[in-house]
Amino acid sequence: MDLAKPLKLLIDGEWLEPSGGQYFVTVNPATEEPIAEVAKGVPEDVDRAAVAARRAFDSGAWARFAPAARRDVLERMATLMHEKCDEFASLETADTGKPISQTKARDLPLACELLRYYAGWADKICGSSLPASAAGLGYTIREPVGVVGIITPWNSPLVLSLMKIAPALAAGNVLIHKPASLTPLTACRFAELALQAGLPPGVLNVVTGPGCSVGTAVVTHRLVDKISFTGETATGRQIMRDGAESLKRVSFELGGKSPNIVFADAPDLEVAAEFAARGFCVNAGQVCWSGSRLFVEARIHDQFVERLLARVSSDWRIGDPLDPMTSMGPLISRSHLHSVEGYVADAKNSGARLLTGGDRPAGKGFFLRPTVFTAVNNRMRIAQEEIFGPVLAVIPFDDVDDVAAQANDTCYGLAAGVWTSDIGRAHQLARQLRAGSIWVNTYGPNSVAAPFGGFKQSGVGRELGPEALSLFTEVKSVWVQLCSDPPQPSTRAAAKRAPL
Ligand code: NDP
Repeated sequence: MDLAKPLKLLIDGEWLEPSGGQYFVTVNPATEEPIAEVAKGVPEDVDRAAVAARRAFDSGAWARFAPAARRDVLERMATLMHEKCDEFASLETADTGKPISQTKARDLPLACELLRYYAGWADKICGSSLPASAAGLGYTIREPVGVVGIITPWNSPLVLSLMKIAPALAAGNVLIHKPASLTPLTACRFAELALQAGLPPGVLNVVTGPGCSVGTAVVTHRLVDKISFTGETATGRQIMRDGAESLKRVSFELGGKSPNIVFADAPDLEVAAEFAARGFCVNAGQVCWSGSRLFVEARIHDQFVERLLARVSSDWRIGDPLDPMTSMGPLISRSHLHSVEGYVADAKNSGARLLTGGDRPAGKGFFLRPTVFTAVNNRMRIAQEEIFGPVLAVIPFDDVDDVAAQANDTCYGLAAGVWTSDIGRAHQLARQLRAGSIWVNTYGPNSVAAPFGGFKQSGVGRELGPEALSLFTEVKSVWVQLCSDPPQPSTRAAAKRAPL
């Protein structure tokens, strides 16, 4: 990809100028330097993309491909991406500030895996035959939903986009992708690669530009059947309102404020401390499942906090994201840094005790040191609101019922961790905690095969695994009358004959 030239919009297989003729600049958050100019789409561009996508869908250019042919195209995408891993990792690191050690070791392998996993599903999406009467034949077909608007955030742009794009394409849908304005590079590069892999024109369209105009135009467009969105809960709410008029199908992956719960009998408190640090430091805390509320059993509170602080300082090295030794990069933008600093100031004013961090290292870039507060109670803002930065609230608890009540006491329900050697207690909490993913004696692992999503205001629907295919298919029932129905015994007569 030539970043010296402005990046255009992909509509109907062609890279086009935006209708308004304007471009915006994407900035490297570690250096504050511009990286590339990107097309600033307008609603007319969304209309052009929606017309192209609808035509591609109705012509059957993708939906009626043999399922094995769709599988082959997705597999080719995975192979091409694997070959271009270094280029994709560098683009993602430049655009997001995420350390290259993580984009190379985690994001790119996961991106390839997502394409391969859903390639494998493309020829296995089945309906079922239904128990019917002797005179009829009933069965279901799973069909693609149609034109899907895919709207994605900036924190893991490539992986979060492919969590939607891969299953949606496997199921035969056509797409309009609106990536986050702060991080559009890998979406554009992936679109080039998809065409190279043989995806027909119009099946994947990319319209970059502001959420409040381009995003809204996708959500409200009459030719778009469904919106698959990842982002803030407040934006999800707005999309639900905007999509209500045309009763758009929606699936949402939204915010979180996840509890990570450490009991005194955790199998290894050192490992628990390592994961507690990772839970809020990975990607500088800009992770939806961040374990940003750490509940520690009161009798080990002080000793555990000491271990945690030691792990934070030994494991989390802030610095240049291109240095392979760096484990924590910057926050995404200056305005986001200000927002996180606002939470730090508010926590101090509310009486929470700052043990480490809260400040920026000297030099350029939107960096903030890992920040740990104790003396937090669960009703404070830092314990209730998603901060999306490296800020941890440590909260003591007394027993299972106390911690279950506190852990569930937020509007979110994305994930939770439980550290204990008591297997009964682990299962009890797995049931009591209202969250889409529960991790026992670990925090944060996931697999492409494991459904992921939120209870309460953390989302609608589940991505990953076979569940994601339900988000991108409609079920159709077919009934075929084979002959006239034989007479049936009346229910009352049957009931009279039935033994007691
Ligand atoms: P936003 O909600 O601000 O933006 C997400 C996307 O929506 C962007 O592409 C944005 O465009 C677009 N958008 C903004 N306003 C509208 C609108 N009115 N209509 C349609 N589209 C719109 O989220 P962030 O990018 O700030 O991402 C961070 C959030 O994402 C956090 O809350 C995080 O928890 C959540 N998230 C959830 C995950 C999950 O799996 N549950 C995973 C990862 C993140 P633009 O960029 O132009 O503003």
